[in-house]
Amino acid sequence: MMKSGMQFDILTIFPEFFESPFRHGILRRAVEAGQVRIGVHDLRAFTHDRHRTVDDRPFGGGEGMVLKTEPIFEAAESLGLTEKSARDAKRESVVLLSAQGKRFTQSVAHELAAVERVVFICGRYEGVDERVNEMLCDRELSIGDYVLSGGELGAAVIVDAVTRLLPGVLGNADSARFESFGKADAALETMDDAAPRSMHGAGGLLDYPHYTRPPVFRGAAVPEVLSGGDHAAIRKWRRERQLEKTFRNRPDLLADAELSAEDKKFLARLTK
Ligand code: SAH
Repeated sequence: MMKSGMQFDILTIFPEFFESPFRHGILRRAVEAGQVRIGVHDLRAFTHDRHRTVDDRPFGGGEGMVLKTEPIFEAAESLGLTEKSARDAKRESVVLLSAQGKRFTQSVAHELAAVERVVFICGRYEGVDERVNEMLCDRELSIGDYVLSGGELGAAVIVDAVTRLLPGVLGNADSARFESFGKADAALETMDDAAPRSMHGAGGLLDYPHYTRPPVFRGAAVPEVLSGGDHAAIRKWRRERQLEKTFRNRPDLLADAELSAEDKKFLARLTK
């Protein structure tokens, strides 16, 4: 039986951590509309000793403690998960949050948005017994090149990024396609008289800057072109700002961006 909407399950030793992150804005609405269901599961509920022990000392010695296998496997099994060898990767994905993981990006968010259920395992202390990664997880993901004290923030980040890609979650179905890291809409690019929408094709570039009222704030005016009503000029201005911002802040993205001859000419001028 297939339920509609997407299921997220989070395994953590700090379930209270998630009391707030999903209760605001888009996430809250998606939960209320049943577009996503988020289960938070306390790993300590899957222990059997008086102290509800979830961690133990590392084999081989060294600093700190390591999250144990048993509570995590029992929690996973209570959710009907099998070991990864028996899993249908198109239907469910089990993610270990880890500083040693592959980088979580918008394209990974798209991959996760295509499955029916994502289960997150949040590490703490020095990390998680590696057999959890080997036997249970099909993805090891890092949300960036820094070390956090737990996987909970990472799980919240990924739930947020994936949820806004689900059909019907953002008011305008195009919003996700046209923002930073989005793919360009070739058809729209060529429509010279199309209204320059707030989310013109990002084409793998960063988004352009946005402005709203007042037109002049403490002496700083909104760029004139934006109130001129010349749609082609607005599109050109926005494209150039995207190129400029990407060039300045994330030049690494330019290698994979969809660039026209005109874009390349503009970029060549920036490098001079
Ligand atoms: N000893 C580990 C760090 C452990 S930090 C190392 O050096 O790689 C404790 C937990 O925080 C990890 O198990 C992981 O679940 C989480 N964590 C830390 N940094 C993270 C990151 N960049 N992305 C996702 N999770 C992270």
